[in-house]
Amino acid sequence: MINSYKYEAVIGLEVHSQLLTETKAFCGCSTKFGDFPNSNTCPVCLGMPGALPVLNEKLVDFAIKMGLATNCSIRKTSTLSRKNYFYEDLTKGYQISQYEDPICYDGYIEIEKSDTEIKKIGLTRIHIEEDTGKSIHDLDIDTLLDFNRSGVPLIEIVSEPDIRDADEAYKYLEQIRQILIYLGISSGNMEEGALRCDANVSVRLIGAEKFGTKTEVKNLNSFRNVQKAIEYEISRQIEVIENGGKITQETRLWDASKHITRVMRTKEMAHDYRYFPEPDLLQVYVADEWKNEIQNSLPELPMQKKKRFMQEYHLSNYDATILINDIILSRYFEQTAAILNEKNEKYFKVLTNWINTEMLRLVAEQNKKINELGITSDNLAELVDLFASEIISSRIAKDVFAEMIATGKSPSQIIEEKNLVQVSDETLIDNLVKDIVANNPESVEKYKSGRNNLYGFFVGQVMKQTQGKANPKIINKYLDIYLNQ
Ligand code: ADP
Ligand code: ZN
Ligand code: MG
Repeated sequence: MINSYKYEAVIGLEVHSQLLTETKAFCGCSTKFGDFPNSNTCPVCLGMPGALPVLNEKLVDFAIKMGLATNCSIRKTSTLSRKNYFYEDLTKGYQISQYEDPICYDGYIEIEKSDTEIKKIGLTRIHIEEDTGKSIHDLDIDTLLDFNRSGVPLIEIVSEPDIRDADEAYKYLEQIRQILIYLGISSGNMEEGALRCDANVSVRLIGAEKFGTKTEVKNLNSFRNVQKAIEYEISRQIEVIENGGKITQETRLWDASKHITRVMRTKEMAHDYRYFPEPDLLQVYVADEWKNEIQNSLPELPMQKKKRFMQEYHLSNYDATILINDIILSRYFEQTAAILNEKNEKYFKVLTNWINTEMLRLVAEQNKKINELGITSDNLAELVDLFASEIISSRIAKDVFAEMIATGKSPSQIIEEKNLVQVSDETLIDNLVKDIVANNPESVEKYKSGRNNLYGFFVGQVMKQTQGKANPKIINKYLDIYLNQ
């Protein structure tokens, strides 16, 4: 038995994010995904000798945005450098990146460990770089190369070794992804490679001051894989140490089919990239006015939105999390909330429940966005108003909703056409209940002798006589009176 509880893990993530600029980092070629291979190329991004790069201003703008959104300092003057290595998808023989003076440094983001505990994860740096081409090995023919991706702008976001387990890593990555999406600078799509993550992992005895030797795990192409690979790597390292071995500093690959990591290259095989300043580009200069302009135009960020939703709409952390997770969903919610007849906790709660259960179920079933279901904010607000003010019961609300989905009609129209308004007439229900109790003496007797489940029988009788439209609260009120006489 391995004593894994004696150990704690130390984790730092390196996240690459493709940026949603229209053109590449150093040329005017389109960054469009999925175009015919090698159609979006030119001498610059193909690495022809003598072709000169020109820096895309949008790329710098986006990098500063991310830096400011993650509490980084922005460097006034930073250098673009050549990172030299040979690989078939890198025809220049070097990648333009940043080295000692990244444009953003010393930031942090917050993750929620629980409803009440927030943890800061430091960001060492965010730097600008360009993507490489893409080698396609898995065909019978040969290795194929597509340079459409060559020169697509990236930022690399490097965390401090502040992460302590796979769950924190997951939350950190999710937070980074959401910030990127909220800023509108990346699709954040991990499966498509727009977001990529390498995990640096080490373990040490709890209480130890020094970090252990780390390994770097690559090839993590989904959130689940990041989590699983970190968990695997932590137990692998503990096992090696417990068996008297030593961890070697190395790069490892996650094998998603076998659920293991295996060595890719050791420290001895590590590249010496021989970084030097790119002589064909000027340094990047960020004037204060530019920085301030970006700072002032930052949108509300996911965490801020969540806090505001919890305060303004009295939502639970759980409900707010679901709503802010998807920016379109959060907009739809706010738009609808703004139209409600009454803006109080009860109405917001009904609206939230409706969206987070009924509507999200349809979103999942139909694989659509919430605003593509055919339910306008106006119509949903009307439904919520009718239900929250008890003009219709939840049963009727569900029927009306189904009809709204099917026909796109408004709730009032449907209710009128189908004569569905809830019956809340006290005298009417009073009389109905009185009659039913009087006409069913045997059931009343059994109920009084402890057969509590007969209560439902009485409710059912009232509903039967009102085609399901009687207000359940009022039924309960009079049943309580007549059954307890
Ligand atoms: P390298 O020299 O291998 O590039 P860096 O110091 O630049 O290493 O760090 C790369 C990433 O590894 C960062 O995210 C950092 O937080 C993380 N890291 C550094 N040391 C450790 C360690 N001992 N255990 C886990 N992660 C680490
Ligand atoms: Zn080009
Ligand atoms: Mg490094």
